[in-house]
Amino acid sequence: MFKEETAPHRLTVLGSTGSIGVNTLDVIRHLGGRDRFEIMALTGNGNITLLAEQARATGARMAVTADESQYVALKDALDGTGTVVAAGRSGLIEAATMNAEWVMAAIVGTAGLAPTLAAAARGATIALANKECLVSAGELFVQAVQKGGGRLIPVDSEHSAIFQCLEKDQRPSLERIILTASGGPFRTHSREQMAEVTVQAARTHPNWSMGLKISVGSASMFNKALEMIEAKHLFDVGPEQIEVIVHPQSIIHSMVGYSDGSVIAQLGVPDMRTAIGYALTFPARPQLPVDRLDFARIARLDFEAPDETRFPALRLARTALQRGGVQGAAMNAAEETAFDAFVDERIGFLDMADIAETVMEEMIAFGGATSINDVFEADAEARRRAVDAIARKEKAA
Ligand code: NDP
Repeated sequence: MFKEETAPHRLTVLGSTGSIGVNTLDVIRHLGGRDRFEIMALTGNGNITLLAEQARATGARMAVTADESQYVALKDALDGTGTVVAAGRSGLIEAATMNAEWVMAAIVGTAGLAPTLAAAARGATIALANKECLVSAGELFVQAVQKGGGRLIPVDSEHSAIFQCLEKDQRPSLERIILTASGGPFRTHSREQMAEVTVQAARTHPNWSMGLKISVGSASMFNKALEMIEAKHLFDVGPEQIEVIVHPQSIIHSMVGYSDGSVIAQLGVPDMRTAIGYALTFPARPQLPVDRLDFARIARLDFEAPDETRFPALRLARTALQRGGVQGAAMNAAEETAFDAFVDERIGFLDMADIAETVMEEMIAFGGATSINDVFEADAEARRRAVDAIARKEKAA
């Protein structure tokens, strides 16, 4: 059970206005809110109404919008509260540098990398929702956390599940990790049907309530692709040890297989507060108001092999893992750029994987990153190439 004296006291939530951020503040509230925790910084981007509301409710020392054009509005909204207001990239770094012992990294996309690194550099415990940090920067990110002296606790439900199933003393017997995937809203669609889907259809996840990017990523299985790369770096396993299985009910969040044939799974209702709470109070477990599993009502758990023809993102992740270098950064940046174009209805749903593959092929000769700066350069290069690939698609349409 969670004990106040073992839990961190000073907390920061990067990306507090998003789906994970809102759930994080809910968990914090359930575990005692302002009586138990001090909120050092909250950050958002466009939703400053919510950010100001959160800062007022938690008494946050600092509130930051990544969008510089919103600075004055945020400052006005927090006038008289004593909350320090900042904006832009430097504001995000300032927020991450506040001396919180625990930092939730829940900004979406590569925009989260620099602030999360800033928190890691000063030794904070990083509750990592922003998988893009690991997909883009890989070992360099893990090394930055180690060098800072802090630790990384996964928040993605799959990786939290694996983290919970991995027994430290049994690492030599670990054979495989099995990531579960719901299959998303298009699990049974043909490729022809998928070519025509709308943004609205792609954002409607059957089991989870999440932000737009990850919801569309679940529909294309790009999210699972990112998770495969995330798993490699988090758990230091080889690509051949990472499996994906489609499990439409999203009850088993992931599994670990050992050399004696045993498989250990973590189960729960699809509610991110479980993984967030565990990351906050680890190694203890908090008391949380999430629904309990009713096995008789669930009755059955289904599994099926993923189809890499309809969901090529999984194949791309394996390619990125095998090639190494900056292929993860290239895949992620190209996919983020293609995602924006899909949301703007400039390209189709299946084009996202095409564009990521094109950019990965084009960047095959790029060497590995030896510094974070190399990662940012590879990211920028991949975005430029993705913009060109999108323009070619638009011209051909
Ligand atoms: P959301 O889109 O709901 O929220 C993203 C957050 O990042 C918001 O606070 C948003 O601000 C902020 N943001 C957006 N753009 C920028 C930017 N350029 N600079 C700084 N901040 C920015 O995302 P989710 O909460 O769904 O996901 C966050 C991360 O967690 C992702 O990496 C995702 O893959 C991961 N994750 C999410 C899960 C979920 O259940 N949602 C599950 C597992 C992992 P604003 O809203 O004010 O614009």
